[in-house]
Amino acid sequence: MTHEIAVIPGDGIGQEVTPAATDVLEALDIDFEFVEADAGDAVKEATGEALPEETYELAASADATLFGAAGETAADVILPLRDAVGSFVNIRPAKAYPGIDAVRPETDLVFLRENTEGVYAGHEDRLTEDVSTLTRVVTESASRELAEFACDYVDTDEHDGFTIVHKANVMRETDGLFRDTVAEVADEYGVETDEVLMDAFATHVCLDPEQFDVVVCPNLAGDVLSDLAAGLVGGLGLLPSANVGTERALFEPVHGTAPDIAGEGVANPAAAIISAAMLVEYLGYDEEAAAINEAVEATLEEGPRTADLGGDASTEDVTAAVIDRL
Ligand code: ATP
Ligand code: MG
Repeated sequence: MTHEIAVIPGDGIGQEVTPAATDVLEALDIDFEFVEADAGDAVKEATGEALPEETYELAASADATLFGAAGETAADVILPLRDAVGSFVNIRPAKAYPGIDAVRPETDLVFLRENTEGVYAGHEDRLTEDVSTLTRVVTESASRELAEFACDYVDTDEHDGFTIVHKANVMRETDGLFRDTVAEVADEYGVETDEVLMDAFATHVCLDPEQFDVVVCPNLAGDVLSDLAAGLVGGLGLLPSANVGTERALFEPVHGTAPDIAGEGVANPAAAIISAAMLVEYLGYDEEAAAINEAVEATLEEGPRTADLGGDASTEDVTAAVIDRL
């Protein structure tokens, strides 16, 4: 079976780390057909559009999408692309790697963040010169869809249930609905859960991240808390992410275009390669995904390393080392 993969490198180091990721995928014994498309600042400059219609259509029809990064136009690119794949959950692992400087080297977390509503649903108004408002939307259906995904996600030997993070003591209607729905679905599935208020979570995760494993949260809380966890594991450079929908999904490194090093061939490809491992796992190839992750881990620990990790290797050197270990 051939899997059609939309490949959208975008701008800056997206142009360097995305080919590294597809090189690694090509080294696997899986039949991929890569179809490349444009998005971002450069194509906007050339055509007036940051996300050409054909790129949107490609992401909306391919089995999965691999995205690099977009510069100034990031919001005009990534929000519609998440919509193109029908994404309702954003998966953000935050894991420290052996040999890499981290504030909390014992951190190994996965955030499952609601990806369509909450305060990011876009209902903002300026009522008067003095007053602006925002309507926060939480639906039972989106909360249920996220919870069902979370229950399937933790249905392996690696996980015992998940933690629901919310602020239902203050936002009783919206986070109350979120919390009650997620807990109810978990009950139906026989999945164990516990709950932590989001402000308390911020403190607890800094002091003792090991007490958490899979964290299920509303949109804004997930955005902020997963960035906080990124800080605990040593910054954005190594972190992958996935935007998953019912039928397709989009995978991207958490970092941006890194304009300060773009074009030099020295970007660390690890986050893009780990994102590609998530893509492989999403398509059902668990062993191949684990093999990529092991090869990346060994390369991070033993080298070669790019400059951001204190080495002097190029993007290509690191990619070749990962492929060798595969
Ligand atoms: P953008 O607006 O596209 O997010 P940015 O200036 O915020 O761009 P980021 O890509 O978010 O840049 O990166 C922040 C810092 O981390 C930069 O100094 C960048 O060089 C570094 N960085 C990010 N990703 C990588 C990577 N893959 N390899 C090496 N350094 C990286
Ligand atoms: Mg940035």
